[in-house]
Amino acid sequence: MKICIDAGHCKLTPGKRAFDGSFFEYEFNLDVANRIKKILDKHGVESYVQYVENANPTTELNARIAAINKDKPTLIVSIHANAYGSSWNDANGWEVFCNAPADSKSKGTILAKAIQKHSKALGLRDRGIKDAHGVAGIVTKTTPPAVLIEHGFYTNQTELSKLKDSNFRELCAVCDAKGILEYLGVAWKEETMAETKKPHWAEKNLDSLVKKGLINSPEVHRNTLDEPITKAQVFALLDRITDK
Ligand SMILES: [Zn+2]
Repeated sequence: MKICIDAGHCKLTPGKRAFDGSFFEYEFNLDVANRIKKILDKHGVESYVQYVENANPTTELNARIAAINKDKPTLIVSIHANAYGSSWNDANGWEVFCNAPADSKSKGTILAKAIQKHSKALGLRDRGIKDAHGVAGIVTKTTPPAVLIEHGFYTNQTELSKLKDSNFRELCAVCDAKGILEYLGVAWKEETMAETKKPHWAEKNLDSLVKKGLINSPEVHRNTLDEPITKAQVFALLDRITDK
């Protein structure tokens, strides 16, 4: 058994960003996909994140489908955020696409229903389970049970601020993972998850640096505290410190 967590879009995908350039959909999708993988790992469920770098939306989809045909996952969960219109608007809510109507008994619909049930915790309007035909090729042009989840709209300023928030992203990952685990018949391990909710030991240092004015955007760093720092970042930080 191997779950494909498809992180929708990539850096090069045209469009797929907030009107003010403050948010790229691929970054949200990839972050949530990685978080889902971490949760599935903790539950002993094998999964992988699929990220395809490709500038052409048509060939990008084909590349994703080809990769899935090669890897033969047990099921596919494609992670997205939604968009509507050409300027800020009120379109809002959560929705999921699967390979059949909402009332079908298909495996994809059963998976979608399990994820939908747990996603009520997001507090978004539930737009429901929708048929992916003509909308989501990653679902209709692949063989394993598949769903595509839209976690709110980045063309809506209220939902955009949620989509940028790391706590909301973690909640998205928890809801999706709970649905996947329920579909697989794997019990949710609250104790294992409670451990992961403990703040990172360096978060207090990060908060302190923010207070001192040395770091401006803590949300960028909060989930990447264990990533290496570049020489450029070291030099910039040293320069800022010695200027104080
Ligand atoms: Zn998308």
